[in-house]
Amino acid sequence: MNLRKGDLVEAITGEERGRRGKVLRVTKARKTGTVRVIVEGLMLAKKHQRTRGAGKPGGIVDLPNAVDVSNVMLLCPKCGKRTRVRREPHEGRHVRICRQCDEIIDA
Ligand SMILES: [Zn+2]
Repeated sequence: MNLRKGDLVEAITGEERGRRGKVLRVTKARKTGTVRVIVEGLMLAKKHQRTRGAGKPGGIVDLPNAVDVSNVMLLCPKCGKRTRVRREPHEGRHVRICRQCDEIIDA
């Protein structure tokens, strides 16, 4: 799994292709191993939410849906390109390295 919370990604398929956002959550289905990500501002689904007591009014809210990880690509924070990463040991831990510019992505 090469994406993490906080990564900037771009949608590469679907209606929202080209849209960018930050990864809010990475989820993995225990049974199937399918990895999905929730991306800020992407795959917005209007959800009708019931009133949940004082201070939490119901109504329609925009919530990002989880998308399959294969529908998005990481944007390298160093070179800004859509990229895949490889993992390498670096100073005693594994870091992700951009295949486009060979820079270490993880600070
Ligand atoms: Zn790069």
